[in-house]
Amino acid sequence: MTSLQTVDSYREEIFASLTPLAPQEIPLAEADGAVLASDVIAAWPLPGFDNSAMDGYAVIAADVASASTEHPVTLPVEAEAPAGDTTSRTLSPGRVIKIMTGALLPAGAEAVVPVEWTDGGSERVTITRPAGQGHAIRRAGDDARPGDLLLAAGTRLGPAQIGVLAAAGHGAIVARRRPRVTVISTGNELAEPGTPLVPGLIWNSNSYMLASAARQAGCDVTRHTVVRDDPAAVLAAIELAAATVDLLVTSGGVSMGGEHDAVKAALSILGSVGFRKIAMQPGMPQGFGLLGSPPRTPIFTLPGNPVSAMVSFRIFVEPAVRVLQGLQVPPVSTGSGLLTDPVRSPAGRRSFLRGIYDRQAATVAPLTGQNSHQIASLARANVLIMVPEPDTELPAGTEVDLVDLP
Ligand code: AMP
Ligand code: MG
Repeated sequence: MTSLQTVDSYREEIFASLTPLAPQEIPLAEADGAVLASDVIAAWPLPGFDNSAMDGYAVIAADVASASTEHPVTLPVEAEAPAGDTTSRTLSPGRVIKIMTGALLPAGAEAVVPVEWTDGGSERVTITRPAGQGHAIRRAGDDARPGDLLLAAGTRLGPAQIGVLAAAGHGAIVARRRPRVTVISTGNELAEPGTPLVPGLIWNSNSYMLASAARQAGCDVTRHTVVRDDPAAVLAAIELAAATVDLLVTSGGVSMGGEHDAVKAALSILGSVGFRKIAMQPGMPQGFGLLGSPPRTPIFTLPGNPVSAMVSFRIFVEPAVRVLQGLQVPPVSTGSGLLTDPVRSPAGRRSFLRGIYDRQAATVAPLTGQNSHQIASLARANVLIMVPEPDTELPAGTEVDLVDLP
């Protein structure tokens, strides 16, 4: 029991040995999920020029001040300014310029009368409501001024962030890319879902599940074909993949006893991957190391049981992805709930039990079927219930820390 390494110490060791990816220039169209390496400061005002917020008529406010339904004001239309027209115009007193949303505001214009307040005329327009100074005008810089912080270093780029970068004119951005990850499942028993099975074989679920988890964690994922339990084949696959990715994740072949543990056998030859027993359940057998010459590729060798693999991914790999992108690692648990039923846990090990968290009641119901092969109960769970190392049982009503599942 004392030979087990704690979850926390293993995490620290992993994160300390990872080097964040080097920031690089990334075309905006590929920047989804990248993490900014430095602040993005507005170089120009947003919007870049005074423009109309509506389709209507640019006016001098005094010219329409008296307009009403009973006493409309009729004025000549001296020009038309559609969006994208770069002609700079000046509005003369007593006249209006028909203007579209987003079009450059003529010099001298003080307000835009929405088309709904007019008869929509082209030669002359009849206006039935006044528009005060600045009405329906978007001022240059009313969204951001030069020098304003648009996005802070450490921001992961999502749709709105990509949008503001585009709006601010960035065709490319310096950021840490989505880590490239290859997921490799190993095992002679694995058949591809969609192909026939005979007893003794199982469908490969880990590589699909882990690939999905890695994608949700913000990675670019390649799913390797299944590798047989042959150390030479495993080593060849790992070395080839390691050369082209930022992170490798394998499943299977690292359990405690067997001479059939091909991943362990293959990587023991290299010597740079440490295999240990972690004080957790599920997920005790773990391997982590760095492969090749700098920049070295981190590899996680996760246990084969699907729930062990998933829990290991959530606790070790997902935060490692954040480190690679230069992000802070949040604590393992980010919430808590009250147990609806008692739970048990082996002494000296931290349990991660599948549960269903009810947000409204702030309760968590442990699921039946907590064995590490029971993926059906994993699919029903929305959280992992964390039972601390010293605790062997917790009664119903105990407040427990929860880990959200991707
Ligand atoms: P191992 O770690 O290779 O000893 O595998 C432990 C258990 O996990 C065995 O029951 C395997 O059949 C199962 N397993 C290993 N890899 C996968 C996989 N890719 N998909 C589903 N189950 C797996
Ligand atoms: Mg195996």
